[in-house]
Formats: sequence, structure tokens, C-alpha cells
Amino acid sequence: MASVMTVHRAYIGFGANLGDRLASCKKALAALAALPGCRLGRISSLYETEPVGPTDQPHFINGVALVETEGNARWLLGQLFAIEAGLGRVRGAKWGPRTIDLDLLLFDEEIIASGELTVPHPRLHERRFVLQPLHEIAPDLRHPILGKTMGELLDALGEEGGRVELIHPET
Ligand code: ADP
Ligand code: MG
Repeated sequence: MASVMTVHRAYIGFGANLGDRLASCKKALAALAALPGCRLGRISSLYETEPVGPTDQPHFINGVALVETEGNARWLLGQLFAIEAGLGRVRGAKWGPRTIDLDLLLFDEEIIASGELTVPHPRLHERRFVLQPLHEIAPDLRHPILGKTMGELLDALGEEGGRVELIHPET
């Protein structure tokens, strides 16, 4: 008898502000699509965003993708680290420039708080570059702790959370 696997819905935030930012984002998405037991769902538009934290660094390209996965959250985080490393991510200063950053934003309705992994991502609700693309691909999604939709969280941000601009890449 075929076993029935549970498929989880994971929202992954991606960002790059070093080198060929667009190419890095595309490679990361291709790598996510190629993960075993995973399927790439909706992908947001790409956004050009101001750096948060140290602002003396280039602007980012950011977006969010849905990954449907048979693996658990911890497994997926390990895969994100491996993709980052494969794309030349060097872990330097916190919130410093990076060729690619992959964050696990949401994993079903799970709430996880361990040293290595916090889900929902602890800064999700403070960052326009995360909320805007999440709102775009999952308008009805609610933050499992705050109980608000991404649109409501965006409204609550007001003028905070960094500037974000939709971009239209050539390719
Ligand atoms: P940031 O994404 O906050 O700029 P890093 O990508 O360098 O910083 O991640 C720092 C640490 O955050 C990682 O070592 C990872 O273990 C931890 N972490 C905790 N929760 C998450 C999450 N939901 N997604 C990604 N990393 C996380
Ligand atoms: Mg990260």
C-alpha cells in the first residue's frame, strides 16, 4: 500500500545584495525546486529593497516563494544552509551583505523556538521586504502567533520597515 506523505507548506524568503543579485535569486529558486520531496509553488515578484540594519551596503533584491515539502522544518533549514553555501554565501557580519540569504519564514502553522530555528521568522512582521511579497502570493495567510494577515501586518508597519520597490527584470 502506498504511504501517504504529509505535505507541508513552507514560505521561504530570499534576498541578495552582492554580485549578480538576480542570477543568485534564480539559482536559489532552481535549487529549491530541485530539493528531494519538494515542489516549488507560487513565487512573488522581485523587489528592490533598502538594506535593514547596516545601511552602508548595496540594495537587495528580495522575494518570497512557497515550497511544498515532505520534509520537516529542521530538514528544510539544513537544505537552505546548503543552498546558501553552494551559491558562495560567506557568513560575515550580522545583517551584512550577502550573495544569497534564504530564511524559513513560515512552516504550516508551526511555532518553533529553538536556538537554531525560530518559526515564524522572528522579524517577519517588521520587514516590508518580507511582508509585501508574502502578501502578494498568500493574501489570506495569517501569522500563527500574531493572528493577523500579511496585509494587516503591512498596515501596522506604517512608515517603518524599509522602502521596497517592485522591479521588472528583463529576463
Ligand atoms: P539573517 O537571515 O537574520 O540576516 P543569517 O542568515 O546569518 O541571518 O542567519 C543567522 C541564524 O539564524 C542562522 O544560523 C539560523 O540558525 C538562524 N535562524 C533561526 N531561525 C531561522 C529561520 N526561520 N530561518 C533562517 N535562519 C534562522
Ligand atoms: Mg538568513
